[in-house]
Amino acid sequence: MEQVVNLCKRRGFIFPSAEIYGGFRSTYDYGPLGVLLLRNVKDAWWRSMVQLRDDVVGIDAAILSTPRIWEASGHLANFTDPLVDCKSCHERWRADKIDGKCPACGSSDLTEARAFNLMFKTHAGPVEDAGAVAYLRPETAQGMFVNFANVLRTTRKKPPFGIAQVGKSFRNEITPQNFVFRTREFEQMEMEYFVPPPEADRWFEYWCEARFAWYRDLGIPEGDLRLRHHDQSELSHYSKATADVEFRFPWGFDELEGIANRTDFDLGAHSSASGERLEYFDQATGERYVPHVIEPAAGATRTMMAFLISAYAEDEVAGERRSLLRLDARLAPYKVAVLPLSKNEALVPLAREVLALLQPLTMCDFDVTQAIGRRYRRQDEIGTPFCVTVDFDSLEDRSVTVRERDTTAQVRVPIEGLREHMRERLGLC
Ligand code: ATP
Repeated sequence: MEQVVNLCKRRGFIFPSAEIYGGFRSTYDYGPLGVLLLRNVKDAWWRSMVQLRDDVVGIDAAILSTPRIWEASGHLANFTDPLVDCKSCHERWRADKIDGKCPACGSSDLTEARAFNLMFKTHAGPVEDAGAVAYLRPETAQGMFVNFANVLRTTRKKPPFGIAQVGKSFRNEITPQNFVFRTREFEQMEMEYFVPPPEADRWFEYWCEARFAWYRDLGIPEGDLRLRHHDQSELSHYSKATADVEFRFPWGFDELEGIANRTDFDLGAHSSASGERLEYFDQATGERYVPHVIEPAAGATRTMMAFLISAYAEDEVAGERRSLLRLDARLAPYKVAVLPLSKNEALVPLAREVLALLQPLTMCDFDVTQAIGRRYRRQDEIGTPFCVTVDFDSLEDRSVTVRERDTTAQVRVPIEGLREHMRERLGLC
């Protein structure tokens, strides 16, 4: 964990936010590499959930919205964690995450737990009166429910179909912790899948399997993943069944994603509160019904951290220790690094030619400083699957050396066929 956190800061994945002012309450900024990795995680999710299907469409809903949404969804009343104060040192804790004692000073003299609402409250417009109260969304899901009728009308989809969204959510967590695992500002990737009620159990099983497979296919070893079904006592008030995809974090198995059978709770609640009919009318059968919802809800920032932890490795190459990120090529920030062997006047222009050839295909890095061995190490450490080296022979034979990150195996490839070669090795269509 410490090695990954250090690597993130040293190489520019994730910086503590507002560091020059001493930081700000467990918020983080994504640096030049982090923004690429996080985008690749979200793109991989979007590709699998939206692009490769004809039954799911996307939306991007507002972050700020009316309290009426949160009243109907139950968040105003129920989106709380149990808060306790330590009477000795006055630290505050989430009661269900501590063992009856204050983790800071060890005292067991704690207040009774009280419900603390996790939503961030603000005011929309220049007047701070009750009518202007707004909340930052604590989940993206409600955007899909309130747009259900809009999407149905404009896309002419019929159940089973889904609405997907990726975006920021905000929760005033009592104790943010474990780097970006739990933060107050984070990103989610959620999909609401609307189904005819008799099909709900089947689709719940389907999405549990599909979502588990997504993490495995992107390189997390199966042994570090598990699907944990909630027992009855754990279920939220709206849920008929819930299962979490969990990853083996350094502190033990913990949640990456929750898959829930939310029944008709959300559409029903928004229907009653808004007075709009949120149902599906099947013209073929003349049947009218409120679809049930299966929701796979994942965290993009939390998942990115799991991919980093899972990819981190150390090994030895020709007697020298190195650390590397064995990231799947689809997730790696840079897919290819183009490296002229030296700063030589003739080599750099040819290397730039190679860079220009590959840039339209994929995200490339270009690095001319330091000895070539050190530049390879640097690319290994940030997870770049391939380095393309332009050397003096390249000037004669118009070929380059392609080096693979995990094995360090090298092959010589003519520049003319390089784009095709890289396309194939990166698995790009
Ligand atoms: P927890 O019990 O850990 O507070 P949750 O079960 O309330 O989380 P959900 O509401 O199901 O979480 O949110 C779906 C996903 O969003 C989670 O599986 C997680 O990946 C992500 N997520 C939720 N809260 C946070 C947070 N504070 N920071 C980072 N990611 C989060």
